[in-house]
Amino acid sequence: MANPQSKALITSCIRKRIGNGLDSFFWHDTWIGEVPLKVRCPRLYLIANSKNATVAENCFWDGLGWKWTLIWRRNLRPQDMVEHQALHQSLSQVHLSPQDEDSFSWSPHKKGWFSVKSFCFELAKSDAHCPNSVVPGIWRGLVPHRVEIFTWLALLRKLNTKDRLVRLGIIDVALSHCVFCNASQESCDHIFLQCPMAWSLWSWWLSVWNVHWSFPSSPREAFDQWTPPKKGRFFKKIWAASFLIIMWTLWKERNSRCFENNFSSLAQLQDLVILRLCWWIKGWDDPFPYGPNEVLIYPQCLDWSSAVSSSHIPKAPVSWSPPDPSCYKWNVDASLKLSCSKSAIRGVLRDCHGRFLCLFSSPIPFMEINHAEMFAIQRAIKLSSSIGCLSGAKMMVESDSLNAVSWCNGNADGPWNLNFVINFIRNAMRCDSGIEITYKSRESNVVADLLAKQGLSRADEFVAWL
Ligand SMILES: [Zn+2]
Repeated sequence: MANPQSKALITSCIRKRIGNGLDSFFWHDTWIGEVPLKVRCPRLYLIANSKNATVAENCFWDGLGWKWTLIWRRNLRPQDMVEHQALHQSLSQVHLSPQDEDSFSWSPHKKGWFSVKSFCFELAKSDAHCPNSVVPGIWRGLVPHRVEIFTWLALLRKLNTKDRLVRLGIIDVALSHCVFCNASQESCDHIFLQCPMAWSLWSWWLSVWNVHWSFPSSPREAFDQWTPPKKGRFFKKIWAASFLIIMWTLWKERNSRCFENNFSSLAQLQDLVILRLCWWIKGWDDPFPYGPNEVLIYPQCLDWSSAVSSSHIPKAPVSWSPPDPSCYKWNVDASLKLSCSKSAIRGVLRDCHGRFLCLFSSPIPFMEINHAEMFAIQRAIKLSSSIGCLSGAKMMVESDSLNAVSWCNGNADGPWNLNFVINFIRNAMRCDSGIEITYKSRESNVVADLLAKQGLSRADEFVAWL
């Protein structure tokens, strides 16, 4: 134990459990009470004849009970008597078992069992008086208490990350790599922030809310900078809880990779963040109306206010115009991300009241944006024709790509490599005169646009009929 703090902790928490008393020092070991007897009875220790005697050397069995035979260098004086009586009071409770050997026990555990987890937890507690350990804003009861404690330890860099276990001499440095990237040593700063995996998860959540964040140097700094981008009372709680949930999700994934050899993808971790949030929101007092499915496909509905919305569906943007009562309307959109060469298409289907009937989001191969819009329109037509109750109804499809709309309506020839998509759409329009494909500017297509951006990180197609 190179670390002086660890050494002090070990000394104070390791106790001797007495068996035959042959292997424990009477004055120096902690074996009755919370401290060694030389600390508890300093006057007597000074006049003890044999300071290095074992427990067994200071007593014998007289056939009825254990007799203590302590020898002093001088006669006891009145001022020694308080310690003397207290000592004999304690010794009268002791019974040696000659058949058992003395053993060590770890006092923080009720059965005396030592574990690295318990050791590190005690080490963190022993730091608790330090002013940096006060982290206001964690203890709000928005997530289970164990998640709050975990985050607090993480912010103080007191978790059992591998760099710490190396410092404590528990594991070898060769085994201390990060299980997410395999490229750096695992530390609190690394797995919660600097690792590409961690940073991708934070970036996804921040991009949902259009927040740009400069790279904090530590989880503690990140926590201190974590200010909500929106003002609603409920959203402030969402924002506060999301920090703890993202930290917890990263840690759970790290443990599952380390100990169970189970790996989740980034998209799965994103879903887990949303699912945990939805699950723990249920413990709050707010009548939040959306379930996990709705939040998964439209996380913006977390910016909810009980005063404004009592509907169970996300509010349609103001500029959106409802279709006629006999008609349904798709808003479709596509997006690309040059940095990761990904495209995604999304669409939402609503009725004349603005109620959401269906949402889809699919990753597609990287392609030019107008081409991707064609795939979005095709997907919308396929989905609605697969549902019996919608057949025969008038169906509008709104896209914000003027090119795609012209190609579909035959006003312009489309690119040759999209012939099969164009033919599918034109055929569908010919067979079902109720399909109408129109252009709508991006501003009035907000929902589909937002959904498409989120779809970039999704690995599989997502379709939900609501
Ligand atoms: Zn890493």
